[in-house]
Amino acid sequence: MKQIRDELLVFKESPLYEYRTSNKYFPVVGEGSHDAAIMFVGEAPGLNEAKTGRPFCGAAGKFLTELVGSIGLTRTQVYITNIVKDRPPENRDPTPDEIVLYAPFLDRQIEIIRPKVIATLGRHSMGYVMRRFDLDFELEPISKIHGKSFETTFKTVGGESLPLTIVTLYHPASALYNGGMRDTHKKDFEVLKKYV
Ligand code: URA
Repeated sequence: MKQIRDELLVFKESPLYEYRTSNKYFPVVGEGSHDAAIMFVGEAPGLNEAKTGRPFCGAAGKFLTELVGSIGLTRTQVYITNIVKDRPPENRDPTPDEIVLYAPFLDRQIEIIRPKVIATLGRHSMGYVMRRFDLDFELEPISKIHGKSFETTFKTVGGESLPLTIVTLYHPASALYNGGMRDTHKKDFEVLKKYV
């Protein structure tokens, strides 16, 4: 993870590099246990995250922490990261090109952690992770498949085949604009309980 951080610090190929350095922001690698059974993958850092270098540390993060607590875990027992490691300007969605550019870092993190479950937060993360693990044929709008789990196989760099479950969740920020979503998030999180 340290190596990944060092590479990100000088990742000049990224269109987000100049924006990060001129604002004195940090890349956001991820946080939590490197032995975690559950790995959460969000989209890209926001302002708080870029200022601190920590994932999900703003309002959406506060709700994510609560959701993780609702299944009996703390943030230190899971691993939390994003696909894109630098903040896109104005909190816009990451572009498809940015996702392609940063995805190899996420792939390496998955290889290090070897989680039992990857829980995607939001539709961009869902799209990348489902395709990455050959679940393209299961892809549907997130409004249809939120809170569902999909079984697949993770082939390690060394050629091992490990069972992997993908759980598709709404992005926690959606509950900030629409308070009625909070209960949906809590219910969707229950699918993770059996991996705790
Ligand atoms: N939203 C994300 O997708 N990731 C973060 O780290 C914070 C907000």
